[in-house]
Amino acid sequence: APADSSAHVAILPSPGMGHLIPLVELAKRLVHQHNFSITFVIPTDGSPSKAQRSVLGSLPSTIHSVFLPPVNLSDLPEDVKIETTISLTVARSLPSLRDAFRSLAGRGTRVVALVVDLFGTDAFDVAREFNVSPYIFFPSTAMALSLFFYLPQLDEMVSCEYREMQEPVKIPGCLPIHGGELLDPAQDRKNDAYKWLLYHTKRYRLAEGVMVNSFTDLEKGALQALREVEAGKPAVYPVGPLVNMDSSTGVEGSECLKWLDDQPHGSVLFVSFGSGGTLSLDQITELALGLEMSEQRFLWVARSPNDAVSNATFFSVDSHEDPFDFLPKGFLERTKGRGLVVPSWAPQPQVLSHGSTGGFLTHCGWNSTLESVVNGVPLIVWPLYAEQKMNAWMLTKDIKVALRPKASENGLVGREEIANVVRGLMEGEEGKRVRNRMKDLKEAAARVLSEDGSLSELARRWKNQKCT
Ligand code: UDP
Repeated sequence: APADSSAHVAILPSPGMGHLIPLVELAKRLVHQHNFSITFVIPTDGSPSKAQRSVLGSLPSTIHSVFLPPVNLSDLPEDVKIETTISLTVARSLPSLRDAFRSLAGRGTRVVALVVDLFGTDAFDVAREFNVSPYIFFPSTAMALSLFFYLPQLDEMVSCEYREMQEPVKIPGCLPIHGGELLDPAQDRKNDAYKWLLYHTKRYRLAEGVMVNSFTDLEKGALQALREVEAGKPAVYPVGPLVNMDSSTGVEGSECLKWLDDQPHGSVLFVSFGSGGTLSLDQITELALGLEMSEQRFLWVARSPNDAVSNATFFSVDSHEDPFDFLPKGFLERTKGRGLVVPSWAPQPQVLSHGSTGGFLTHCGWNSTLESVVNGVPLIVWPLYAEQKMNAWMLTKDIKVALRPKASENGLVGREEIANVVRGLMEGEEGKRVRNRMKDLKEAAARVLSEDGSLSELARRWKNQKCT
């Protein structure tokens, strides 16, 4: 049958660049490989960020975006958690989402599916009103998705905080994990963020299908568990690895790529903590001195410390923007030539695909992790927030493509430990093992990307859907 070029998919990304990036890749795939047209419907609590605009502005004309009117969140307390903010942004955008659907319908657009991410399940109600099938795109691991489906049951079985449990948590299909390593909103069950998490996980069953940004060779056990047919559980489609291969950051990034050109093959450790990760001043000091002691080459995306405000000697109106002010004295001079520090942002996909890059010290955000996998770059894991501890656990204990430095009793990871682990990855036997394992995964990822996989299955399903 000829492709139905009028089939249209609406995508509702929840706030945050880490959520938007893989959805943009999904959209591109649906347009280029399956002839869909796309509308991004974007809820916000303020005006869209520059980064959002530039990502969305660079898309082909078959991908539209509509920014919904900003919702008012001024009634939320100062210490509100991100999961609550995201959930309420979506919930309060439902009336304008309804308007957006009405106007799509008015123009005769045949919307076959609404795709939401992590905490967007409230939008399902509007989709149903317009006879549109609700789907989820899960921008993290199959392990985390398996936990999401399991959480309502775990919540009933366990009465204490999960981190206080004696027994590890047995997420279906996964290596048992200590409760304290579960994602942040599961660490305080009295907080609204947990209530929202639990609410959404229950609503995941209302979806007609869930796409997850992973693939079988990476997470066999969890995917098997997820694909076990069970009454009331939606179909799960492993559509990964969906990664951004060309973040065109232009001039800003070119300095570090030029520097990489001059380094020996596979010799550089890339050090970066995602789009927003920060360290304390003391931890920055240890990391800098550890990198120096390791005597390895490094490219470090440095940010100002997250505790600078309380440190009067460092914090002044003029200097707090410059992350270089917080590096140990003489560090830049002593490591000159062997190390390059760039402020705030690097063109990460290009850095990871560069031949000189031989390792990645990462906060384990799932996009960063997948970008490393498709380029075969082994990891040092340094989880900071969200579900990153779960990712770090899986990458070291289960998939075995990463080394993990240990924190000392004061909670800091010390310079010696850092130097040892960095040397271990770049030169040691352990490093060789995880590097080889990562090479296998890179090949597996390339195979999956060349196949007619889960996304094609889903695309066919959407195209054959009866119109009402
Ligand atoms: N990123 C980048 N340059 C940077 C930091 C981050 O291009 O200096 C990109 C990175 O390639 C990835 C995304 O931002 O695609 C970060 O997503 P991830 O899930 O790893 O972490 P998050 O920022 O959501 O914690």
